[in-house]
Amino acid sequence: MHDQVLQNLWETAQGKWETGVLPTAESLARARASLPRSLPDSGINLEDVQQHILNEIVPAFNGGSISPNYYGFITGGVTPAALFADNVVSAYDQNVQVHLTNHSIVTDVEHNALGLLTDLFELDRSQWHNGTFTTGATASNILGLACGREYVLRKVAEKKGLRMTSVGESGLFELLHALNLSGIQVLSTLPHSSLVKAAGILGIGRANVRNIAQSSNPLKFDLEQLEHELARADKVSIVAVSSGEVNTGRFATTADDISQIRQLCDKYGAWLHADGAFGIFGRVLNDDPEFATVKQGSRGLEWVDSITGDGHKLLNVPYDCGFFFCRHPDLAASVFQNANAAYLAGGPSDGPVIPSPLNIGIENSRRFRALPVYASLLYYGKDGYRAMLERQTKLARGINDWIFDHPDYVALPRTSSKADHLDQTFMSVLFRAKDDTLNKQLARKINETSKMFVSGTSWDGAPATRIAVSNWRVDVQRDLDLVTGVLAEVARS
Ligand SMILES: *Cc1c(COP(=O)(O)O)cnc(C)c1O
Repeated sequence: MHDQVLQNLWETAQGKWETGVLPTAESLARARASLPRSLPDSGINLEDVQQHILNEIVPAFNGGSISPNYYGFITGGVTPAALFADNVVSAYDQNVQVHLTNHSIVTDVEHNALGLLTDLFELDRSQWHNGTFTTGATASNILGLACGREYVLRKVAEKKGLRMTSVGESGLFELLHALNLSGIQVLSTLPHSSLVKAAGILGIGRANVRNIAQSSNPLKFDLEQLEHELARADKVSIVAVSSGEVNTGRFATTADDISQIRQLCDKYGAWLHADGAFGIFGRVLNDDPEFATVKQGSRGLEWVDSITGDGHKLLNVPYDCGFFFCRHPDLAASVFQNANAAYLAGGPSDGPVIPSPLNIGIENSRRFRALPVYASLLYYGKDGYRAMLERQTKLARGINDWIFDHPDYVALPRTSSKADHLDQTFMSVLFRAKDDTLNKQLARKINETSKMFVSGTSWDGAPATRIAVSNWRVDVQRDLDLVTGVLAEVARS
């Protein structure tokens, strides 16, 4: 029975994107009408539950992860290896919270998968094989800012010879008060909204995420202003680099920039965090001149203190999965330790030192979300992922090439030459229609075709449209024909 349902699911998943990237209005209405108004006293049999879900709920899903032509948000997809592993995860429902060497292999697998990821991103294992799996990049950004908050205040406390040295232990307010500081600030350029959310959650405050960009380029740090802010006596600072800006797909820094920012952070005791949710995958591309600009943007990450990455985007594993790397192996435990639970300590081990996940991250009980990552990495290897990312980049560049020359569209951000624009293109395309009336409805008109789906956004204070290529099913020529066909049709209308 289980096999049959899985088989059906897989076939549905394969066929779905041939029927459109959005559900029909009828499917949505039918699914809504099928939802029970209250919980019945007695249950129904399993087959009926399955039929209800497959025949009424599923047809009202969108093609987000299934269709190669769903370019909204950055949804990624689910690789066959990850789909298999994720079903194993549900069937065996292992709880990955404490490292107990004699009870289960799951913490070892999770730790191993984290190491494989450092290999994929060419991060030195001796420094970077620390961190954890999270529910996504938002959670990873919370971890990054939380570790940063702990670190920057500890630095000041140590300098002042204060005994109270941990936010996790003493509390943010008490420590700031004892240190005679008015707060913590996060210095960034075009940060993702989730970084601002993280600052809100952590008591730093959304208003204290400050933009430190050059006036001529909103993504590049103004190093003079940055130093000025870092030198303030009343605040401590975390610098957050947008290693992959979500609208343009471009990078805030080059290796040179990061090295300069690193020096400033060391001089003033600041923490350096990189949000590489999708951008860290730039490191997987090869060294050909074709990809040099993108690769250059993701260089230097090895010198930051903490890195955010997403699993459910470009790694193409199912929701919800992200990861977090930290160069300071013991720091997360001072923030996230599960106090007074000695019975939860990990057992002795002759293998690597594996921290219990509940002491270094947000959750206690946790899903075995590392297994789909592990499976997909083994299945593709470095070369498989590199080939996938090359196809995604080539498709985005093909679309940008077409848009750049089209009389009705403008490629964004505006760049002097087409060659430069294409060099800077990773897997995102940002553009607008020249005609204002069309531009206001552009995303809606494209999505109404149901042949592809795009996100509406804004750029430079005006509406813009974004295509994010992130699915493993990408086929450069097939998808380029489809996308340019739809854009031509919409421009004519
Ligand atoms: C998507 C994204 C996030 C948030 O990630 P979730 O996986 O949705 O939590 C953070 N930063 C960047 C740059 C992103 O692209």
